[in-house]
Parts: sequence; C-alpha cells; structure tokens
Amino acid sequence: MDGIKNAASTRQIYKEMGISKEVYDYGEKVWNSLKDRWDEIDALSEYNQLKVIGAMQKNKVSEACLLGTTGYGYNDLGRDTLERVYADIFHTEDALVRPQITCGTHALALALMSNLRPGDELLSPVGKPYDTLEEVIGIRPSKGSLKEYGISYRQVDLLPGGGFDFNAIKGAINEKTKLVTIQRSKGYQTRPTLSVERIGELISFIKGIRPEIICMVDNCYGEFTETLEPSDVGADLIAGSLIKNPGGGLAPIGGYLAGKKECIENAAFRLTSPGLGKEVGASLQVLGAFYQGLFLAPSVTANALKAAIFAANIYESLGFRVVPDGRESRHDIIQAVTFGNPDGVIAFCQGIQQAASVDGHVTPEPWDMPGYDSPVIMAAGAFVSGSSIELSADGPLRPPYSVFFQGGLTWQHGKFGIMKTLQKLVEKNIIMKEFG
Ligand SMILES: *Cc1c(COP(=O)(O)O)cnc(C)c1O
Repeated sequence: MDGIKNAASTRQIYKEMGISKEVYDYGEKVWNSLKDRWDEIDALSEYNQLKVIGAMQKNKVSEACLLGTTGYGYNDLGRDTLERVYADIFHTEDALVRPQITCGTHALALALMSNLRPGDELLSPVGKPYDTLEEVIGIRPSKGSLKEYGISYRQVDLLPGGGFDFNAIKGAINEKTKLVTIQRSKGYQTRPTLSVERIGELISFIKGIRPEIICMVDNCYGEFTETLEPSDVGADLIAGSLIKNPGGGLAPIGGYLAGKKECIENAAFRLTSPGLGKEVGASLQVLGAFYQGLFLAPSVTANALKAAIFAANIYESLGFRVVPDGRESRHDIIQAVTFGNPDGVIAFCQGIQQAASVDGHVTPEPWDMPGYDSPVIMAAGAFVSGSSIELSADGPLRPPYSVFFQGGLTWQHGKFGIMKTLQKLVEKNIIMKEFG
C-alpha cells in the first residue's frame, strides 16, 4: 500500500469510527508537530526496558516463578523473586509486591499506618494529599484513620508559583515529626507534578534538618516516566498501584512498596500479621501477569506519555488551560485540561468512553464515589476494572472543572480517544466546528 492510499484508508476508517474529516485533519496537524518528542520518549522507554530486563535477569526469573501458591503461601518463589526484582528496579533494600494490597490508597495507607505510632506526627510539605488519603489521615473523619490512633498531621502548602515553602517546612518539623509524605503526581489538582530532581531537593532539605525522618513518596502514576525514581534520590519508602504504570495493564490487582528494609518489614507485619510478615500471602494465579506487566510497563507508560502530550497540544491549541502544557517535560502520565464548566468535563469523559473496546457503548455519568467529597465522573472501558493505565479520564465536578486524562495501553488507542473527545465537544457545540 503506498503512502497516499494508506493515509486515505486511515482517514476512511476514522470516519467509520465516527471521527469527522475536520477533527481528523486537526489531529493529524497537531501530531505532525510532535514527532521530535516521540524520539525522546522512545529513548526513555528503551532505557527503562533494559532496567527491567536487567533486574529480572539478575534475579534469575525462571519459568517456575510464574506459577503461584495457595493457602499460606509459604516459600512462594515467584512472589519472593518478584519482590527482589522490584527492589532492584527501584534500587531499594527491599520491596513488598502483593495482590493482597488492593489498590494505591491501600498501599499508601499501609505504608503510613505501619511506620507511624501513636504520638507521631505526619507532615505533607507539598500541600493537600490525594483525595482518598484525607480519610486515611483523618483530615476528613473516618473510622480507623491515623487521627483515631493518635497520629497528628501537619501540612505545608506549595507556594503560589508551585515552589516548596522551605521556611514553613522548617517551621513545621518538630520532635514529633516521624514521616514526611511527598506526592509525586498532581492527582486531582492543577499544581505541577514534581520531577524526581525536585523531590530529591526536598528530601535533602528535610534530611538536613533531621536525618531520621522517614521520607515517603506517593509514586502513583510516576513510575517509568523518568530514568530515575524517587528512591534514587533519597526516598526511604515509595508506594504505588499495580493497576497503574508498573502493572503494564496486565496486573489484575495489587500494590507495591519499595524502600528501606525496616520500613518494608513494618509494612509486611501490618499487612499480614506481626510475626508472619512477608512469609505468608499466597500469590494465587497473578504472578504471570505481574511479571509480564512489569516487563511491558516501560513501553506502556511511554504510550500513555505520548497520548498525554497529544492531548495537551490539541487542547492548548484550542485555547484551554492544560497542565502540563504542550512543551514541558513530563513526570507522570496525567494530563489535566480545564474546561471551566461541567459540560466540557462530561463531554470529554464521554468521548473517552466511546473510544473503549470494552464498554464502549455505555455512557458515563457523575456519581458519589467512596473516598471523594464531590461527585466524580469517570470514563473507563477497561479490561481490568478501574485500571487507569488503560485509557481513562475522570474529573470531580467542582470548580475549576478540570478533567484528568491518563493512560492508553497503546499510543494508537490514546490518539483515537483524544480524537473522540474532540468530536464529542464539537457535537455538543462546546467548541466550534471550524477550528484549526
Ligand atoms: C491513584 C492515586 C492514588 C490512589 O490510588 P487508588 O489505586 O485509586 O486507590 C493515590 N495517589 C495518587 C497520586 C494517585 O494518582
């Protein structure tokens, strides 16, 4: 097939899939301006791919590791080897990678609850943490929160320009401060995501005041978006979800912690039981997916980065506020687009849903989700329920009415999804048909 015929047939299949000529041409124009960035991302995923393969080879991952255990899960070769692989990728002393960790919030709650004791204080020097952590900490009252156990909390907001408020951080650290939690990704906010380099600066500052403070990083959505991870720049403990980046779209459940031996031991004793720790916890049938997903994760994360950059450039060129902007460097896979009204958020999410290969026929509506304090609309037609490394979008329905877009196991799917959002916004007259 020659190039011209190929372009014509691609346009034709987009048309059959509901994308008008105007939307398609606009998308192509934007994409053609981005090809240099694609080289940069391909180089990143090449580096991280070798990092993952190297860690697997070093730990002699074998066919037997892909089999699971049942019952207590004693001597689970695959589970124990996978934890060493994670520890090597993140350059930490140890790791805990388990299907019994149900999600990212659980991984973070586990890290906090196991490493803090009554009378200790938790500090967030980067502003309000992710919504679901508000109940974990007790910022919003909840059964079993850290607050109920006598663990206090302090927060120092970022400066208006997004910088760290070093003076206030210094002032907030006291003899009770046991653990500092740093969220890498912006979550449902429009602040910039922290680069690994900036996280390193913050950790050095904190360790300079009191070296024994545990520095923990919420690594959700950040894994493999750079060549370094927060644990390479001094973090004692990092945590994340396997249905985001490191699961590569294949992990059907799970979370991980990686860090200092003592921090991981505390977490293991809390997850299972004092005395049992890492020794129990059957891996059932998930190890094959955990390993293969980890193997694919650098490449899947790169596809998600491409989709996010494409979205940023499309919506920025149409005059919407986008974070990060179309050109800046990336430190997570999330793209925020601010519409300023609920209709834009809803139309965007409906467009993403219409691009899905699973549940592409359903229409997402806002609902009151557990753990969130305002209605949230979520678009996800996922093979793994709720997986947000798969093409997905969500947004709380509250000002400034931003949508948060992430994922795409393949770049081609991400591109189609963004084209669908644009089509939906045109159909609902939220943007003009004659754009571009
Ligand atoms: C997704 C996310 C979480 C929580 O993860 P869940 O798996 O949804 O519970 C925590 N922090 C950040 C920054 C996240 O992106």
